[in-house]
Amino acid sequence: TSFGYKTVPEDMKESLVRNVFDSVASRYDLMNDVTSMGVHRLWKDSFVSSLKPGKKGPLKCIDVAGGTGDIALRILDHAKDNYYDRETTVDVVDINAQMLKEGFKRFKLTMYHNTPQIAFHEANAQDLGSEKFSDNSYDLYTIAFGIRNCTSIPDVLKEAYRVLKPGGTFACLEFSKIENPVLSTLYDTYSFSAIPILGSIFAGDRESYQYLVESIRKFPPQPEFAQMIRDAGFSTGPNVDGGAWADMWGGIASVHKGVKL
Ligand code: SAM
Repeated sequence: TSFGYKTVPEDMKESLVRNVFDSVASRYDLMNDVTSMGVHRLWKDSFVSSLKPGKKGPLKCIDVAGGTGDIALRILDHAKDNYYDRETTVDVVDINAQMLKEGFKRFKLTMYHNTPQIAFHEANAQDLGSEKFSDNSYDLYTIAFGIRNCTSIPDVLKEAYRVLKPGGTFACLEFSKIENPVLSTLYDTYSFSAIPILGSIFAGDRESYQYLVESIRKFPPQPEFAQMIRDAGFSTGPNVDGGAWADMWGGIASVHKGVKL
């Protein structure tokens, strides 16, 4: 089956995204390495280090669109390795059961398996559900390479705001807009031609990767996304460690942060 992302109506986007990640789940970690040439690991490392989980004591964290648990594992390792903290917890939330299954399998090989430090939940970022995820309950909300796949960014931000405690931090790592026109052209050429081809070679799935590339294009530029974060009620001002956003590699990706007042 072939689909053109641009012609897919918004109300179909959720099921489309579910299918995309169903189809790539077992190859997901490999494909991240292939398409980003390993760079996603560096970005994720620096994203998590910048949050210093564990520094001020154990944190209750939620990692939304957490997939196979890349961010969750880094949060727990950072807290343990730097602050001897084995009490920080992460709830990994994803809309896709296959991705969560891969994550669960992977955590089986870690010391966190079968401890209260890690749990996996199937839920939609736009409506986490107030029974399972109550108001004002988390210190840290992370979302990495996930928010652009959601139908409504404002709904995701609203839920993030709801579940965070006052003083809690929202942190998002996402593909972004490149400032430099030369770098931007190079990157567009790479992503539009090479990534779908790599997707077809390594995962046998050109269309899913085509979709992923197009979703990056459609995501709002940094100042606009920062404004959406403020509109949801967060402060992106001087109390935010590192500022409203920080570009990585000239804006190929960026980290946005906000604090719930
Ligand atoms: N955070 C992980 C990482 O950085 O490796 C996974 C990122 S992956 C590109 C995007 C994830 O978002 C997928 O696992 C997908 O199932 C999930 N996702 C997409 N839409 C979602 C939604 N509305 N709610 C929760 N998760 C969603």
